[in-house]
Amino acid sequence: MRVHLINPSDTSFGIGVITPRWLYVLAAATPAEYGDPVVTDETLEQIQPELIEPGDIVGIGIHTGNALRGMEVGRMARERGAWVIFGGIHATLYPEESRDLGGAHAVVKGDGDVVWAEAIADAIRGTLRETYDGGRIPGDQFLPARWDLAPRDRYMWASVQTVRGCPKHCSFCSVWRTDGQKPRPRASDVVIEEIVRLRRLGYRFIALADDNFYPVTLTDIRLAEKQGNHHRVAELNDIRAERFELMEKLAKLPADMVFFTQITMEAGEDPQFLDAMRRARIKGALVGVESVTAEGLKSVFKDFNSAGDDLTTRLRTFKEHGVHVLGSFIFGLSSDRADTFGATADLAKQAGLTFAQFVMMTPFPGTVDFDRWEKSMNGSVPHVDGVPITRYWLIPASSRPKMFSPHETMTTDEIRERTQGVWDTFYSLREVWERSKCVPTLRGRLAFLFISKLYRQMYANTGISSDSARRQKATRVARWLAVPCRKLFEAKPMPGLEMPVSRSSSGLTSISY
Ligand code: SF4
Repeated sequence: MRVHLINPSDTSFGIGVITPRWLYVLAAATPAEYGDPVVTDETLEQIQPELIEPGDIVGIGIHTGNALRGMEVGRMARERGAWVIFGGIHATLYPEESRDLGGAHAVVKGDGDVVWAEAIADAIRGTLRETYDGGRIPGDQFLPARWDLAPRDRYMWASVQTVRGCPKHCSFCSVWRTDGQKPRPRASDVVIEEIVRLRRLGYRFIALADDNFYPVTLTDIRLAEKQGNHHRVAELNDIRAERFELMEKLAKLPADMVFFTQITMEAGEDPQFLDAMRRARIKGALVGVESVTAEGLKSVFKDFNSAGDDLTTRLRTFKEHGVHVLGSFIFGLSSDRADTFGATADLAKQAGLTFAQFVMMTPFPGTVDFDRWEKSMNGSVPHVDGVPITRYWLIPASSRPKMFSPHETMTTDEIRERTQGVWDTFYSLREVWERSKCVPTLRGRLAFLFISKLYRQMYANTGISSDSARRQKATRVARWLAVPCRKLFEAKPMPGLEMPVSRSSSGLTSISY
């Protein structure tokens, strides 16, 4: 009997940008007595069905974007006589779908770190239950990943999680509902230990794959103080202090290491935090800008973001403090008009964004937007290829609509074409070359160019295009670009790297593990 862990994907690029962390965390959660799991990440290559034998246990993790491919893989594994167990956000939200369409014998809901071992043991005993509820485990139970099982020559960035959960409540995002609004941080020593192991293996680029790296804002603390809620103030200050402690320890890691994370724009009002990020070599952050207008932000419950001139200033502040921004924007909001696209492209340039992504409004399951949208159908849901559009992830990609709610003033094609136009403008050769000035050497600038082009191929041309020939071509180009790009992320392993030294109250001490 072997345990398989599969990350499904329709599109394989041969090279992955970021390691899918859950695969290697569940590999760590697989008890040693069952041997090393066989890990397959289909964003690299498709699964070979003959690897799966009767009696094997197959774990498949799905989110909305890869759910349909996951169902195919699940049915294939079941036909081959394996025990099929689904997990991930999508399976948590729609467990019956994985059972009815994906051949699942069981579904693990919530965090899998602890409950996965129980599901495996039950499968071996033949007592597999339909559902395992992993719930939301505290930060001290998060497992470090089995990075020794990841192919070093296939990924650019490794991924380490430092906190789960986000206190915000954006209407288009499911994180706060699935991972919870209470931040669950991991102890900084445990995070550092995992990063040191990665550097020993030769990874120097690490994505801090957190829901929100800045879980406590200065405004949160001020509000709690104003309310006289001393307990809350102390709790928030503790979380803030832990963030600084983590960044101090990151700063002591080898000087060639580079980190990237996701953060809310509010960090732009906290220069002390941004400076600590710079010292920690967190050189970039994905910031959800979403919309350049106040109306757009209000419509997605994100009015804590800035708009207008204040937005440009706030985003520039990141760069001034040495943190590059990958700005994320949504198009197709009810307040968007034809001129919103150009205004967004201008803002992205004026704010000095280093990278940007422009996505079309999609109601994701588990979000407030999705609930509103589903309710608005009033029971009369249109179907595509026999599938209700409120289950659009089950519609084959070739016929899946790109937008789901009619826009008041623009057609779907217009929104799609204008969105593509903003990608084209932002990633034109001239603009990319201009932005590449942020790296000092010619070699560095060329690397920047390659990576920008790859990013655009992977996320714009394969995702937005309605034309399957264009999507296939984009995948081919991305596969080609990915090979030299990955080489730029290579680093010589440092097998002898020691854990850094931390300063405790009693003076300088080694962190012992
Ligand atoms: S979009 Fe970001 S800030 Fe908003 S709830 Fe999701 S993780 Fe939190």
